[in-house]
Amino acid sequence: MDISTPVYILEEKKLEKNLQLLDYVQKQSGAKILLALKGFAFQASFDLVGKYLHGCCASGLHEAKLAHQEMQKEVHTYAPAFKDEEIDEIISISNHLVFNSFNQWQKYKDMAVGKLSCGLRVNPEVSASPKEIYNPCSPYSRLGITKAEFKEDLLEGIEGLHFHALCEQDADALEDVLKSFEEKFGHLISQMKWINFGGGHHITREGYDVKKLITLIKEFKVRYDVEVYLELGEAVGWQTGTLVTIVLDIVHNDIDIAILDTSAEAHMPDTIIMPYRAEVRGAKKAGEKAYTYRLAGNTCLAGDIMGDYSFDTPLKVGDKIIFEDQIHYTIVKNTTFNGIKLPDLAIQKEDGTIEVVKKFGYDEYKRRN
Ligand SMILES: *Cc1c(COP(=O)(O)O)cnc(C)c1O
Repeated sequence: MDISTPVYILEEKKLEKNLQLLDYVQKQSGAKILLALKGFAFQASFDLVGKYLHGCCASGLHEAKLAHQEMQKEVHTYAPAFKDEEIDEIISISNHLVFNSFNQWQKYKDMAVGKLSCGLRVNPEVSASPKEIYNPCSPYSRLGITKAEFKEDLLEGIEGLHFHALCEQDADALEDVLKSFEEKFGHLISQMKWINFGGGHHITREGYDVKKLITLIKEFKVRYDVEVYLELGEAVGWQTGTLVTIVLDIVHNDIDIAILDTSAEAHMPDTIIMPYRAEVRGAKKAGEKAYTYRLAGNTCLAGDIMGDYSFDTPLKVGDKIIFEDQIHYTIVKNTTFNGIKLPDLAIQKEDGTIEVVKKFGYDEYKRRN
């Protein structure tokens, strides 16, 4: 079929396979699993996701609204900080609300208690992540309350604790985090209704120790008699689709460079930020096959480069280049990351008055995913 590029293609069959494994974990362990929209937000898949998972975790108003309106299952909302003008609506459409500090909890407590289940995000100070930029508990992290800052006298009304300390990890890393979490906050767990183990559990990756995860959760539930939640982004969208682009031109400057109708900077920024190398279908590392090209974006940023790849045959203008595994975390860069509101546009006139000329809100977010 002829479809225009660039395009992300989500493969439903692969998504359903991931969801079936996650559902197995739910059934065996008794934990409830949520989709973290931060990592994978694609409305057209919500019926399928909702068939297996318990709902969504949202990073703010826009994601919460999308989950509430389009999936209509549980909505758990956490943000580093909430805004006065959004908190009412967030409360009205969420089931769980997780605060990042005692300041925020005290500020919004009276509005929230009785309307939904409130929790606090803690920092277990043990974490694991492939890069520091993705480490939620790196030094000076703003994400979650440390034991030193924790105020046990302000817990009235709190029904749950939340931690998120992993990125792309196996079950042994969760075991380490749990150990630290229980050492620091274990004496409070029995007075909670739920504990949220966050995301970063790479459950659908080949070789993940699913059995160990199930055992850890089951034993935890026995120890404390609480509901356990996992909120997964990457594990849901893991290897479920591609970003398809074409070659627009091939130029030569000591090496061959293929200019694609996509952009690392705009469409797949993790390849620059992390950085990581996306797999390209049929290609290997530079020099391993006969014809090597640098794949680069169609923008004016010099560093808009996906990497150097080699192919069996020379590339031609019009050839398709297929980047593998571009559905989680790549796609959400196109939908405003975390659903965070785009800045409005305003002009300051010569007389000093400021005129707002464009406002962006939920509609902009929804239209993009
Ligand atoms: C990013 C994030 C998740 C999802 O993490 P994955 O690595 O995609 O599973 C879950 N919870 C919170 C609070 C997050 O910030």
